[in-house]
Amino acid sequence: MLAETALSAHDPASLISHRGGPLLLLGAAGTGKTRLILERYGWLVEQGTAPERIALLTPSAARADAARAVLEQELRGGYSELVVVTPPEFAAAVLRRAGSRPELVDATLSAGDRLSMLAERIDELPLQHHDFGGNAGALLGSFVRRIDRLKAELVSATEFSAWAQQQDSAREREFAAIFEAHDRMVRETGACDEGELVHSAIKLLADQPASRRSFQHVLIDDAQELALGAATLARAVADEGELTVAGDPQGAVSRFRGAGAARLESFETPQTRVVRLQTHYRGAPASSFWRCENERAQAQAVAAEIERLIAREQADPRRIAVIVPDVQREGQAVAVALEERAVPHTVVGDAAFFQRAEVRDLLAWLRLLADPGDAPAVVRALARAPIELRSVDIARCTQIARRRKLDMVAALAAAIESPQVPPEARERIRVFLKLYRACVAQIDTSRPDLYVHRLIERLGLRRQQLFAAQPDVVERLRALARFGELASAHVARMPQATAREFARSIAAVADYGGLNERAEPSLTGADGRVQVLALEVAGGLEVDHVFVLGLRASLAGSHALDSEPVPDALLHEPLPADDDVTRRSRLEQWLYVAASRARERAVLAYATSGGRGGQGATDVPLAAVEQARVTHAAAWIDISEDLFGPAETLHSTYRLLRGELMEGTTRAAGRLAELRLDTDLDISHAVVRYLELLKLAALIARGDAEDGQSTAEALRDINTRIEQAITADQREIFASSPLDEYLLDAERDLRRRAQVMAARDEPSLERFLPMRGDGVMLSATDIDTYRACPLRYKFARVFRIPQEPTLHQRFGISVHQVLERFHSGDSGDSSGEVGPLADLLYQLDVSWRRGGFGDSDEERQLRAKAVSALTRYHARAVSDTGRPAWFERQFSFKLGPHLVRGRVDRVDQLPSGEYELIDYKTGRPKSADQLETDVQLSLYAIAAREAWGLEATHGAYYYLLDDRKVAISGDRERADWIRSVAVEVAEGIRAQEFEPTPSPRSCGICDYRLLCPAAEC
Ligand code: SF4
Repeated sequence: MLAETALSAHDPASLISHRGGPLLLLGAAGTGKTRLILERYGWLVEQGTAPERIALLTPSAARADAARAVLEQELRGGYSELVVVTPPEFAAAVLRRAGSRPELVDATLSAGDRLSMLAERIDELPLQHHDFGGNAGALLGSFVRRIDRLKAELVSATEFSAWAQQQDSAREREFAAIFEAHDRMVRETGACDEGELVHSAIKLLADQPASRRSFQHVLIDDAQELALGAATLARAVADEGELTVAGDPQGAVSRFRGAGAARLESFETPQTRVVRLQTHYRGAPASSFWRCENERAQAQAVAAEIERLIAREQADPRRIAVIVPDVQREGQAVAVALEERAVPHTVVGDAAFFQRAEVRDLLAWLRLLADPGDAPAVVRALARAPIELRSVDIARCTQIARRRKLDMVAALAAAIESPQVPPEARERIRVFLKLYRACVAQIDTSRPDLYVHRLIERLGLRRQQLFAAQPDVVERLRALARFGELASAHVARMPQATAREFARSIAAVADYGGLNERAEPSLTGADGRVQVLALEVAGGLEVDHVFVLGLRASLAGSHALDSEPVPDALLHEPLPADDDVTRRSRLEQWLYVAASRARERAVLAYATSGGRGGQGATDVPLAAVEQARVTHAAAWIDISEDLFGPAETLHSTYRLLRGELMEGTTRAAGRLAELRLDTDLDISHAVVRYLELLKLAALIARGDAEDGQSTAEALRDINTRIEQAITADQREIFASSPLDEYLLDAERDLRRRAQVMAARDEPSLERFLPMRGDGVMLSATDIDTYRACPLRYKFARVFRIPQEPTLHQRFGISVHQVLERFHSGDSGDSSGEVGPLADLLYQLDVSWRRGGFGDSDEERQLRAKAVSALTRYHARAVSDTGRPAWFERQFSFKLGPHLVRGRVDRVDQLPSGEYELIDYKTGRPKSADQLETDVQLSLYAIAAREAWGLEATHGAYYYLLDDRKVAISGDRERADWIRSVAVEVAEGIRAQEFEPTPSPRSCGICDYRLLCPAAEC
């Protein structure tokens, strides 16, 4: 506990004008700490201290901006510089004033820069003991985060390495080598990172104590959030001057291990005057507790309540915030629900920036210009403005690429000669190729910032946005401007960089979803918008209404709480242990900070199930939420999903069509300037979109008139009147619109609506479906892919977008081939005799050469993994009691009209006479629980019965790299379930139901994220 040396009933004036030693102000949210710090700043200036001699340190840029805005408003006199700064900026200011290391001050690499640096030089990293898990960007991003965390706690690469050498963990030793490689690479660019900057400033102050005199006063706000490096720097600067610190001991959200109270205590010395502020200037907000059926219900309820607040209570959207544990998960769902109600909102964070449609359009073009073999990028560019090739024509082009083994750009050049591609599609492809050729010619010679600027103009992205009279138009234009700023920042750091290098670098950062996820909300209001933000950046915000979502008990074990590990032995100050108690306490602090952002009302909500329609495990609320509910003597308010929610009302359909109309206008307008064969058709479509809107408006007006007419009768009347006034072409399109059917359909769920809307423009993809007769051809992988996400299935199996296999995929294929060849007669046979190990390793040599593996560090490490895995495999095979009966055995069987095909890696006959079906895996092992809803082996069990007449009741996954076998049950009940799953999937494919079902697990490893509209906001 801190020693309290002053009475709690303080006199603000005495604190503002405090003299003679350090001052520590402790208080909860709403006790006026920030105001006191700012008033004290003003008072110091009035007393004659030059503003340049006062440093005001805040833990984040948003808080610094907000404080600077107040001071600029309130300071009467002039000044040359206001030092209102974050810790790295403070370090830079100290170094600059001392004239020390000027080369570093202006060359600090951001986390994103370092991520792309590691991605480009991945071959130099030792990566034998770390698993990519299908996403190299995520692994490299986690390295950057951990390195930053270690440096913030003043742990250097040398220190970490010395510690790691004493450990048994090969993984930690490998990380130590990665840490050192990271620092070496940063040094080689002639730059530094923020941790290095802070460290350099601390060292300077220790070596040259006179440098401390450059600041007379140091004020710190929200000091509970400061890491050890920042706190050490502040204390060192204040050593010769005066220090005023304000903070909330319970208010730490980003502090390592939640040690906010310990941080504040660390500022206390025997001379410190400690004041506990107890007067609350904000009233306690009213609290409500929502128990939602699932995440969709939670998002819908929040959106509906916000719409009500704005429409009925004239609440200012800027004074409303939605706080979520993870902006990519709950934030995305809320954004969609707000969009449905046309509520102006913004999702805070880099991840959100890279999910914006216009940013992804630009990224797609940069990626394809840097690499024409990047098929997902080409497909996105083709599907979006200004090209807008129809799905069916895109499928034709991917077919040409696949059949002729061309990259997508070369395939497009071939497509304009192909009779299968209709003339209007060829026109669009020509426009694409013209743009491509114009831009690619300059990619190796242009400066990235100029190149990006020109690309935006060439693609007409800014023009399109200007035409789109939607409420978020300003935000979109700003996003494009910010992309340009990223390119300029890249040039500032790497003046020799070409546009191609920038393209690769920004693509790597975007792949990871950005690294600056702790981007803060605007504290001064976000252009009249509701802000959706992450829990960990909620500190500093002050609004009227707060909705805190996702407060489920399982949050305690989620990745959101996984702070980058710093070994206890390397900590330079005592901190709470990294255990469940600390995690619980962190969650309580987050909850307290989030809820205390509200002045009027806080809603605390959780979803009992993550899946739609109540699927998935049932969750309970966080213990702290339940405790708060009991304290407030409040009841849970149950919220269920509204299947016939806002999207189904005439009003929201009107809003949806209005948005679509404006975008359609932009497209049609763009084409008026071009000589296209189908321009008149585009115009007719745009006119019909307007007429549909008119029809809806008329229906809404009729509803208000309440003349007793049915919807069908009203539609007939309105249609007749409209059709009398339009051209024959327009009448034909108008009459074929499925809008009426949709409006009349009682079974209208979201999926149906999306299908109907899509069907208005797109011809059927039927000829590209993998059909056999009347049924669909399916494999276990197809079923898994479709179940994970139908849209992903469409990209992979209907469009069949060509993809280069990753190194890890090639590795998996190669290991499978080695085992197949080893067992197929050269050195082993199905009699159960296992050939010598030397033959198995010989097969590896052959496969490695044929597989085109190179000599990079990563490839060598993979080879070493393969040798050790195959050696253990061989030892197990020799001692196994089961007798291998078949290898790579194929099967096909009918399931109703559908055909299921595949092959089983290995079938063993057990001593009991039964059979065991074995599937090899080269990924990380999963437990039997994790495989509970697994399809593959159960499907193989049915196949063994249907195709081979075998009653195989056993099945196992064999994780080769870990030498682990995980058995899966193959009982009858499960077989029935698999049959129904397979039929349902096949029917979905046949009906062309390809709605995306985004989820962090599925999207995190999806190759089509750039293409996917569900990954956009
Ligand atoms: S990004 Fe997610 S939602 Fe989109 S296709 Fe991939 S898995 Fe489906």
